[in-house]
Amino acid sequence: MKIYDAHCDVLSKMWNDPSLSFLDGEDLHTNLKKMRSAGASLQMFAVYIPERVPDSAKFDCALEMVDIFYDRVVKPYDDVVAVYSKEEAVRLPAGKIGAMLTLEGCDAIGREITRLKTLIRLGVRSVGLTWNYGNAACDGILESRGGGLSDFGKEIVQVHNENDVWTDVSHLSVKAFWDVIEHADHVIATHSNVKKICTHPRNLDDDQLKALIKKDAAIGVTFVPKFLRNDRKASISDILEHIDYIASLGGISNIVLGSDFDGIDQVPSDLRSYEDYPKLIEELERRYSNKEVEGFLWRNLLERIPS
Ligand SMILES: [Zn+2]
Repeated sequence: MKIYDAHCDVLSKMWNDPSLSFLDGEDLHTNLKKMRSAGASLQMFAVYIPERVPDSAKFDCALEMVDIFYDRVVKPYDDVVAVYSKEEAVRLPAGKIGAMLTLEGCDAIGREITRLKTLIRLGVRSVGLTWNYGNAACDGILESRGGGLSDFGKEIVQVHNENDVWTDVSHLSVKAFWDVIEHADHVIATHSNVKKICTHPRNLDDDQLKALIKKDAAIGVTFVPKFLRNDRKASISDILEHIDYIASLGGISNIVLGSDFDGIDQVPSDLRSYEDYPKLIEELERRYSNKEVEGFLWRNLLERIPS
């Protein structure tokens, strides 16, 4: 079974620790050896600039992570291939792993649209407008002001639309979420779960989930324990619960997986790294048809790659 994963923070971890090897770095949930053993087919790699980086250094930091993507993730390995479109993902020969660049938060571009266009030209195919706080584009979910898209934020979304780039709603304020639904052609939630099951602010309520389904967006169920459960330690069975719920709203073909591996300290008890993906697949196969499992694991995401 192929595996597509819509979100990980490997680049950020490798930027923080230049000694980490993508091949077998022990501290990586998602390293190449684990991906090979589990059967990875496509991984979306986020450029996430740590909050501590001063504004004036954020764009350089983003470029450094793009550099890590090409020089330390893609170039050294014959079986890792940078992928920019649906067609390239479809044509990927068996045994190859597609790697797609994404941006988690537009803080990196400040107020300069040229920087966004540059990152897109460097291969970024999905862009989250902000992380948890406010920036020039919009507010994040933990920014108490709760603002929607600024004019600059709308300009960013326009650039996404013109370039067939996904606008990622994970992390956005509720108002920014609805603005994106209104303005963006290609919407994705790379790593967010169901608020009805777990009331974390990063999760999506029923109206938001229904809007994503109506918009034909991909909804990336994530493995972040505190987005899965808030009363006890999370496990694979909780991931299934979130999947069941989105399916019950009519979103069975919207469901994809966005682990957030390497962006999290805690992991589900029985899903400790990429290596454990087969355990999740086994559980999914117990409850869903082959075709549905195939959808969650890769086809639903593949079919929604804008191109
Ligand atoms: Zn995130």
